[in-house]
Amino acid sequence: MLIGVPKEIKNHEYRVGLTPSGVRELVAHGHKVLVQSRAGLGVGYTDEQYIQSGASIASNAEGVFETADMIVKVKEPQPVECRLLRSGQVLFTYLHLAPDPEQTKLLLESDVVAIAYETVTDERGGLPLLAPMSEVAGRMAIQAGAHALEKAQGGRGMLLGGVPGVAPAKVVVLGGGVVGLNAARMAMGLGADVTLLDKSLNRLKEIDMVFGGKIKTLMSDTATIEEMIKEADLVVGAVLVPGAAAPKLVTRRMLKIMKAGAVLVDVAIDQGGCFETSRPTTHQSPTYEVDGIVHYCVANMPGGVARTSTQALTNATLPFMLELANKGWVQALLDNPHLRNGLNVCRGKVTHRAVAAGLGYEY
Ligand code: NAD
Repeated sequence: MLIGVPKEIKNHEYRVGLTPSGVRELVAHGHKVLVQSRAGLGVGYTDEQYIQSGASIASNAEGVFETADMIVKVKEPQPVECRLLRSGQVLFTYLHLAPDPEQTKLLLESDVVAIAYETVTDERGGLPLLAPMSEVAGRMAIQAGAHALEKAQGGRGMLLGGVPGVAPAKVVVLGGGVVGLNAARMAMGLGADVTLLDKSLNRLKEIDMVFGGKIKTLMSDTATIEEMIKEADLVVGAVLVPGAAAPKLVTRRMLKIMKAGAVLVDVAIDQGGCFETSRPTTHQSPTYEVDGIVHYCVANMPGGVARTSTQALTNATLPFMLELANKGWVQALLDNPHLRNGLNVCRGKVTHRAVAAGLGYEY
C-alpha cells in the first residue's frame, strides 16, 4: 500500500502523522511511504531522515493526496485538504466530527473511508489513540502549573517540591483518569504534596493500590473540593463526563476562598472547562488572572511539546496503520472490532452512531 503523509496546515500545528521510525516499520512490511517535503521539520525530522528511513518525498500536498492509498495525519483535514481527498481513499487521523458539520459534509462528498483516531477503542473500554495525548497533557499540566506558580508569572512564588526545611506545594488534581493520573504522578515525582479526587470509587481504589500514601485519594463532592482548594497552591482540572460538557467544579465564588496567587490549570478546557472562570487560551498567551488566581487553559496542550506528542502518537497509531496497510481496510475492519469503531464516514455514509445522532444523519 502507498501511505501518504501530508504536512499539517492547521494554525500552529507542528506535529506530523508519522515519524521516520514509523516509516521504517511500514517499509519493512513491504509498503511505500510518500512524505510531503518539510512535513516533519517543525518537530526536527528532516526530509533526509525520512528518505533514509525509506520514504519518498513529494514537493507538495497535491502530490501526496493524488497518489496515496491511505493518508495519515494528525489534525482533521481542513476544507482545502478535503477537496484533495479521492474517492475510496482511506483517511486515518483525528476527526472530531461531532461538533463539525462542515467537515462531515465534505468527507461525505469526497467518498473517502475516514477512520477517526478518537473513536478507536481497546479491549478495556479505553481510547488508545486519545490516551497518548491525555498522558502528554496530564504531565504537562504540572510543568505549566509549576511555571505559573513563579512570582514573575503572577503565581504565589512557590517551588512545587519545596526544599529541605520548607514544605512542598499542595497540588490538588480533580479527576483521576488518564490526564489526572499522569498529572498526579508528575507532581509526586517533583516532591509535591498531592491529593487526587474522583467520583469513581473503583478508580480511587486502583490509584491507592498503586501509589499507596504517596498520592492521597478523596471522593469528589462539592464540600471536599471546597475544603481542598482552600489549601491548594495548584489545582489541575482533569475531569471528563463522556459526551457532555465538563461539570463546573470550581465556581467564581469559590475563588475567594483560595490563596492569592494560586494556580488553576484547566486541562478539561476542550470540553468547556471545569472551572467557571475558565476560557480557552493559547501557547502564545497561556495564562490570565481572575480574582488573584492564575488560570492556564490552553486547549491544545500537546501541541506545545509537538516532538514528544508526535512520537507518542506514532507509537499508538502504527500498529493500526500496519493492520490497515497489510490487510486492506475492508479486511482490517472486519477482523478488528476496535479499529472498526474508528470508522466515522465510509463512502458517502456516516458510520458512527454517536456522530450520526449528533449531526442528524441516518445511521
Ligand atoms: P478520562 O475519561 O480518562 O478521565 C476522566 C476522569 O474524570 C474519570 O476518572 C472520571 O471518573 C472523572 N470524573 C468525572 N466527573 C468527575 C467529578 N465530578 N469529579 C471528579 N472526577 C470526575 O479522561 P482523560 O483522558 O483523563 O481526559 C480528561 C479531560 O482532559 C478531557 O476533557 C479531555 O478532552 C481533556 N484533554 C485536554 C487536552 C488539552 O490539550 N487541553 C489534552 C488531552 C485531554
